Order: sequence, then C-alpha cells, then structure tokens
Amino acid sequence: MLVLGIETSCDETGVALYHTERGLLAHALHSQVAMHAEYGGVVPELASRDHIRRVLPLTRQTLQQAGCTLDDIGAIAYTEGPGLAGALLVGASIAAALGFALKVPVIGIHHLEGHLLAPLLEPNPPAFPFVALLVSGGHSQLMKVSGIGAYETLGETLDDAAGEAFDKTAKLLGLGYPGGPALSMRAEQGVPGRFKLPRPMINSGDLNFSFSGLKTAVLTLARQQTLDDQTVNDIARAFQDAIVEVLTVKSLAALGQSGLDRLVVAGGVGANRQLREKLSALSARRGFEVYYPKLEFCTDNGAMIAFAGAMRIKLTPAKGWKFNVRPRWDLAQLESTAI
Ligand code: ATP
Ligand code: MG
Ligand code: FE
Repeated sequence: MLVLGIETSCDETGVALYHTERGLLAHALHSQVAMHAEYGGVVPELASRDHIRRVLPLTRQTLQQAGCTLDDIGAIAYTEGPGLAGALLVGASIAAALGFALKVPVIGIHHLEGHLLAPLLEPNPPAFPFVALLVSGGHSQLMKVSGIGAYETLGETLDDAAGEAFDKTAKLLGLGYPGGPALSMRAEQGVPGRFKLPRPMINSGDLNFSFSGLKTAVLTLARQQTLDDQTVNDIARAFQDAIVEVLTVKSLAALGQSGLDRLVVAGGVGANRQLREKLSALSARRGFEVYYPKLEFCTDNGAMIAFAGAMRIKLTPAKGWKFNVRPRWDLAQLESTAI
C-alpha cells in the first residue's frame, strides 16, 4: 500500500510517499526558515498560510518523482500533533479532503512518534525494544520503546529542550535564527577547554535534563568576554561539550537502567556531529548499538510521518475521514493501536 505523509506541525512543509513493500519512494520539503528569520522566531499565522500554499504543489512534485498518480495512494497520514494549532489544521484538513476525494483512509500521527521511528527508515533498522534519545526543538526525552506505540518516558527536560538551548544560546552569541546548526559549526572551530561550563543535572541520579541554566551560564560568560570570532567559537565549543556530555551520560545511564543495548537518537539535535561521533565512539567501547536517521530525517520531514502512518495501518486499518488536531499531546499517552 502507498501511504502519503503530510507534515505541517511547525515551520516545515514535508510530503512523502512510503510504500509498505517498496519503502520510501519520494519525499519533498519546504522550509519556512527564511520567512520567519526577520522575526527571530516562528510566526504562527504566517506558518499556516505558507503551509496552505505549499502542500499541494509538494504533493504533485512527490508523486511525479515517485512515478505515481493520486489514484495509487492507499492511505494518507498527517501530523495530528503536537505543534502549532493553525499549522496542524492545514495538514489535517488537506489530508481529510484528499482522503474523502480519493476514498482512502486518513490517519493522524504523533509528530514525536514520527521522529522516534525515523531511524527505522534506514537500511539496518534497530529491533525493538530500544532506548530512544529524542532531542528536538521542543522536546528532550529518553524513552523506552518496546514496539510501535509502546513508549515509556524514562526521563525528560525540566525546562528548555536541547534544540531550544542550542537556538537560544546561538541567538545570544549573535549567530542568528535558528541557530542550532550555526552554533555547532562554530563549535567545531572552537578550542576545547578554554572555557568550562556546568553540566546541569549530570549527577542527579535520574534521567531528567535541565538546559536553561546552561544558557544563562553562557550569557554570563559572554558578558565577561570580548566577543571576537575565536572567543565565540570557544564559547560555542564549551556549550556543545557540556550539552553533548550530559546527553551521552544520561543515554548510557538509560541503557544501564533498562538493561537494553540498542540506542536510537532522533530529532533535530540528532544531526549534531559531535553528539553522533561521541555516541558512536562510546558504542564501540561499551558494547551497545547506536542508530540514527540520515541527517535530513533528523529535523522535520514528511517521510517520518508517511512511515509512522504505514506502521500504524499495519496494526489497525484506518477508517473514515474525520480529523482532529492536538497541539499538546504527550507521547507516552499514545496507545499501540489507537487511531
Ligand atoms: P519538536 O519536534 O519537538 O516539535 P521541532 O520540530 O522544531 O520540535 P526538530 O525539527 O526535530 O524540532 O529539530 C529542530 C531543532 O534541531 C532546532 O532547535 C535546531 O537548532 C536543532 N538542530 C538542527 N541541527 C542541529 C545541529 N547540527 N546541532 C544542534 N542542533 C541542531
Ligand atoms: Mg523547524
Ligand atoms: Fe520536530
């Protein structure tokens, strides 16, 4: 069966076609980053309007790339939540309208389930159960994943998400919006050890995180320094060293506590090269396997939604065209067969 996936939860319009036997056939993405940059953050109303403009052209483009037509589509998956209500409504209503017109079922997908399952699109996917480090722009959590929809939260951030910490720190260092990738590029040119920043909650004994204090520590440090290019690089390096160390230590602790030896890294911060290199080096030494999505599927995309939709439809065939959006939605509340 061919599943059309539509992602519109925030500032990326993603569309993809995943075939349950043939795998991912095509995908396309439009990022609204340039449009929101002058405001320094996502403007919800502008995001919704742009999704309206993009979804159908991207769908046509994706069908063409895959060599398929609308009539080949057997089901439609869209992001039901969490995210911006208006942006979600665009994807939901277009999915419902297309589903009604094509007489195919429509299924709402949890955006974080999409992120979490994205590594399963790779050639050697991890088997269940595994531990997932889900580090995105709005979330940072460690989950025990026993199967599709069987998600248990082991720990989570008490304040900022890891991606949010990257973005806010980049902003205060004058690296623009959204600054995560820019900050990590500067960190790669930084001298390790010139500055030392705290590792928040590293010894807390649980699997929770806290990143807002780290951002404040960067602010204090930046005020004490003359911010020449090399100093910015060195502060970026100190920040990245701190965040990567906390994420790796807690991931290892989660593997230890759950007795599992497979770690999946998902979400936008999973694109961070230093994090990937550190986890890969540790996995060889400590005898666990680590799995990542390919870089373009770490951040938001339609492929992860089409894939999650295909997995869900295998469990419980979707029916009908009624649609819903859930701007706030806890991943651990998902049920394995709830559609
Ligand atoms: P959520 O999925 O929680 O709703 P989101 O969809 O905005 O949030 P993602 O698209 O998964 O988040 O990821 C975007 C985040 O990833 C941004 O905060 C961005 O700065 C961060 N990010 C992307 N690339 C990198 C990188 N190389 N290093 C660090 N952070 C990065
Ligand atoms: Mg985004
Ligand atoms: Fe996301």
